[in-house]
Amino acid sequence: MKEHNVLITARSFGKEVPEPMERLIQHGFRIMEWREGTGLEVSELIAKVGQADAWIVGSYPIQAALLEDVPRLQIIAKHGVGIDNIDVPTATKKGILVATAPGSNDQAVADLTLGLLLSLVRKIPQANASVKSGRWERFKGFGLAGKTIGIIGLGRIGLNVAKRVKGFDMEILGYDLFWPEERAREIGIVRVGFETLIEKSDVITLHVPRTRETEGLIGEHQIARMKAGVWVVNTSRGRIIDEKPMCRALVSGKVAGYATDVFETEPPEGNPLLSLTNVVATPHIGSYTDDALRMLGDSTVDTILKVFRGEKSEFIVNPEAYHFKTK
Ligand code: NAD
Repeated sequence: MKEHNVLITARSFGKEVPEPMERLIQHGFRIMEWREGTGLEVSELIAKVGQADAWIVGSYPIQAALLEDVPRLQIIAKHGVGIDNIDVPTATKKGILVATAPGSNDQAVADLTLGLLLSLVRKIPQANASVKSGRWERFKGFGLAGKTIGIIGLGRIGLNVAKRVKGFDMEILGYDLFWPEERAREIGIVRVGFETLIEKSDVITLHVPRTRETEGLIGEHQIARMKAGVWVVNTSRGRIIDEKPMCRALVSGKVAGYATDVFETEPPEGNPLLSLTNVVATPHIGSYTDDALRMLGDSTVDTILKVFRGEKSEFIVNPEAYHFKTK
């Protein structure tokens, strides 16, 4: 294979788990780096994208302006699942393939969701901080058995959350545009409409992608319809929940607590959610486990190698870009 340049802007690719990056090097790829979140100039990024044949991205916004002068770029590979930060229509028009790595991180994100849920309802972070500061206070929790959990989005992550929650003896309600009949029956998920789910659940957890339809899915009106004292967990995307009314509902007690791995803007500097004691927050670490990083890295590299061998990959989200591909 002739030498190609691969630009890496994803924060984690090749860092904790080096083997996928080493595999690219073994296949003749020259590594260029511009890591997001490290304070580098955007002009430097633009210059590097102009030299890249492949681009491994994290959550940095890949907007049309970055794709103006990319004579060599053949593929943008997301080191993750949600592609809401990538301007896919512009990439498609330019014949640039966009790839994702589905199935690599669903166990990891499901684990974190359960971790956040338990932290939230049993107030584990507060109790931990209290004991470590020399106090011996007790924090009254909310029991899960016999209660109702509503899962919005029953794709890979949502179904893995449901599977885990089954052991908690909760009633599981589910809502998805495409109902996974067989898996839902196996796990015992009750199919309901969106409105019923938000009205009947004691705990609500979100697992839909961020799209035009899901942005602001949980806003003022939806929160008003929820049970008083509902608990909400979000490991999907910040903008799916409208943070301002969520903040107000957390202050009033309408929402008992909110646990989130994601924010409207990341990092969430100055975000009022962070000052609330009934919020548990993590810094977008859903996929950050050794196994998930390895699987994400392997999947990303497999897809890139396939594309440069001229093979099709099922992980390309815009196969129509093949029609516009000139490189
Ligand atoms: P998936 O594609 O397997 O599942 C998404 C589900 O949402 C699908 O079943 C789909 O039918 C459903 N859906 C889409 N639009 C909908 C709508 N408008 N109404 C109802 N249902 C709708 O994806 P996944 O692997 O389960 O991941 C889900 C999301 O989780 C990702 O898109 C990403 O945003 C987020 N995620 C977060 C992290 C993290 O680090 N916190 C890591 C991975 C993924």
